[in-house]
Amino acid sequence: MVSKPNMQKDGVRSNGQRPSSFHGDGFSPKRAWSIEDSEELYRISGWGDPYFSINAAGHVTVSPRGDRGGSLDLYELVKALKLRNLHLPLLIRFSDILQDRLERLNAVFAKAIARYNYNGIYRGVFPVKCNQQRHLIEDLVRFGAPHQFGLEAGSKPELMIALALLDTPEALLICNGYKDREYIQTAILARRMGQNTIIVLEQLEEVDYVIEECRRLGIRPVVGVRAKLSTKGIGRWGTSAGDRAKFGLTLPEILQAVEKLRAAEMLDCLQLLHYHIGSQISAISVIKNAIREASQIYVELAQLGAAMQYLDVGGGLGIDYDGSKTNFYASKNYSIQNYANDIVAEVKEACDERNLPAPTLISESGRAIAAHQSVLVFDILGTSDVTVEIPEPSDESEHLIIQNLYETYCSISVENYQEAFHDATQFKEEAVSLFGFGYLSLTERVRAERLYWACCASILAIVRQQDYVPDDLEDLEKIMASIYYANLSVFQSAPDTWAIDQLFPIMPIHRLDEEPTQRGTLADLTCDSDGKINQFIDLRDVKHILELHALKPLNASSAQSNSNASNHEPYYLGLFLGGAYQEIMGNLHNLFGATNAVHIQLTPKGGYRIEHVVKGDTMQAVLGYVQYDVEDLVENVRRKTEQALQERKITLDEAQQLLQNYEHSLSRYTYLSP
Ligand SMILES: *Cc1c(COP(=O)(O)O)cnc(C)c1O
Repeated sequence: MVSKPNMQKDGVRSNGQRPSSFHGDGFSPKRAWSIEDSEELYRISGWGDPYFSINAAGHVTVSPRGDRGGSLDLYELVKALKLRNLHLPLLIRFSDILQDRLERLNAVFAKAIARYNYNGIYRGVFPVKCNQQRHLIEDLVRFGAPHQFGLEAGSKPELMIALALLDTPEALLICNGYKDREYIQTAILARRMGQNTIIVLEQLEEVDYVIEECRRLGIRPVVGVRAKLSTKGIGRWGTSAGDRAKFGLTLPEILQAVEKLRAAEMLDCLQLLHYHIGSQISAISVIKNAIREASQIYVELAQLGAAMQYLDVGGGLGIDYDGSKTNFYASKNYSIQNYANDIVAEVKEACDERNLPAPTLISESGRAIAAHQSVLVFDILGTSDVTVEIPEPSDESEHLIIQNLYETYCSISVENYQEAFHDATQFKEEAVSLFGFGYLSLTERVRAERLYWACCASILAIVRQQDYVPDDLEDLEKIMASIYYANLSVFQSAPDTWAIDQLFPIMPIHRLDEEPTQRGTLADLTCDSDGKINQFIDLRDVKHILELHALKPLNASSAQSNSNASNHEPYYLGLFLGGAYQEIMGNLHNLFGATNAVHIQLTPKGGYRIEHVVKGDTMQAVLGYVQYDVEDLVENVRRKTEQALQERKITLDEAQQLLQNYEHSLSRYTYLSP
């Protein structure tokens, strides 16, 4: 995995611990855990407001309409969905959240436009690449209609979606990405059926294609140019801008395009300036610099004779994944209103100076619209813990190294815990090497290791009380952490945690009125050592463990009623804010397929309705993706059982059972069913 980011929030180093208020000063009597403690620990109001919070039962609640009322108990919802045979991992989409995000984006631009007396309008588009799922795009078109909200396509297949689904009369259809003649032809022809397609030129060749196709078809297109700004983005997608960026035209190329269009008497078709400096821009200063530079290019283009009407600021509007409100890569140091204000104010100033009419402002916010609407809920299958027992006293009959370890254990105190850690580590290493040379028996080595873990546990208990953690003890929490086995594939459901170390808020969705006494990391179902999550949001920096609850053993009666179930009570975690990019980037590593998904909408009476159910992939489906024919597979296995029958290696009953399981499995979900 990639190493931990070197950016730090507030320049402060986290001790990877809960805020000190949680452990008190170590002397005052411990008060009972409350849901407020969970709120602070998991920072839910930081990243979840106004959609996610915790109720008195200690469950996560979802308020899909934000501040406008109505909420659901997420834990109860999951239980109800399970009764409908919708098993975990389960992606729950809240279409009301999608609508609320869209409304908010339009509202902040409306407010900024009023505040600055801006003479133009805002007309946003949703970039289809962010989440192409049909129900979601259908919802967006519907929710966006009152605002003439449009779509942005970045490829030919996305253009196919946009052309077929967008039917809002005044909405824009922005055509980005690399284009061939067919793409351009289709976009131009679509104007005849009332689509407001705008072809954004990203390459110089596209200018020639557009001119030729316009002549051939006798239809005048609306054209834009994508500028490579010199303003650099920030963080992960910082290289989307600048002269060597992958997309767009440099200023000399833009001038060339202008001259080509002028020569073809098409300069009146050039009406839009577009830029996109990267996703998840965490600093408002970067957004300001970019819009300032773009505004100047815009007015210059108008001065050159282009019929400029639109300024398209691209995407980049960030999400506060960790709720820290900083310019950390998983956060952002501005509100969505600041964003709209700065854009509107800068464009107005530049146009007023030159006495130009204000352009229609377009933004292509994907992440900011789609991230909040889905929640992935998954269950924990079991844990692997470091076992710590109170050690038996040692005496002279034991090996010296063991006596030393025991003495170290007994000596641990607030005064010497750092030194004790070094001693314990050194003695343990010596024990390992003595074992290697045959001077220590297996039993003795095991005793040494147990003593070592007992020392670590005792030192960790002290470390957790400290405000400052010495560097060399920072890893102790990680070393001692439990592994929680999660019924999901990181590669399918949260690929960016693996690919680019992205952070998503992850927390239990119930038991939040109980203290989470364990520290864990998550391991997924894949047989890949990268299939894990060991970076979690924190107020400062990133933490490497997540506070979790111990699994509760099932009591005898419920175990009986649940004969093939696991031996612990269900424990559900939620991964939040994953609605942008994760679904389509997810892959079939180890053949774990798409998860079950449901679309939930609040009803006016305060309940909810399951609008759509999209069943996850079956084994048969994922095998089909890699060209296996299920009938062939079954036939092969049948033949093998026949052979074994003949050789009397299997009974008829066993063969039948095996074939039945095999065929049954093929029609089933790829994840484990506890
Ligand atoms: C990806 C992309 C977007 C969406 O960016 P977000 O940061 O998700 O808002 C917008 N425009 C273009 C051209 C893009 O490539």
